Amino acid sequence: MKALIIIDMLNDFVTGELACERAQRIIPNIRRLAEAARAAGDLVVFSNDAHLAEGDAEFKIWGPHAIAGTPGAQVIPELAPQPGDFVVPKRRYSGFYGTDLNLLLQEHGVKDVILTGLHTNICVRHTCNDAFLNGYTIFVPEDGVEAFTEKDHVEGLDYLKRVYGAHITTTSELVA
Ligand code: ZN
Repeated sequence: MKALIIIDMLNDFVTGELACERAQRIIPNIRRLAEAARAAGDLVVFSNDAHLAEGDAEFKIWGPHAIAGTPGAQVIPELAPQPGDFVVPKRRYSGFYGTDLNLLLQEHGVKDVILTGLHTNICVRHTCNDAFLNGYTIFVPEDGVEAFTEKDHVEGLDYLKRVYGAHITTTSELVA
């Protein structure tokens, strides 16, 4: 069983408080991957920042963003979750830390995870770390993840490959 994990494709990360123009190019690719996953009966999981309104640890570094219950914390309209998808809120970089994600994947017999979304070198990286520690086989489409800069993106991908053995691939290869 496979799971497509869509990380932080939220209004605040794409067009809001921490807007990332580079995220635009990955939107159609993630949509393609999500449609293919739903058609194949694979899991589609949104791993979404959902911070407390005040005092969350990340705010010292990034400022307030993706506060639970606000429009900024909602998935961008282009990728809105569909019936049957799962939404797993998180308050740290990793989608696994302090969340229901590992249990959800285990309950569905997931062995392979496809990581997409933002950012290659931050939340994707930390989620990849925990996916590796938990024994999942990891695929990362290079055109399905992004970062604030090309350097962050390229170095982020290289790290995922070298350190976690992630298979760096493309959307077209994954939906073929
Ligand atoms: Zn955050």
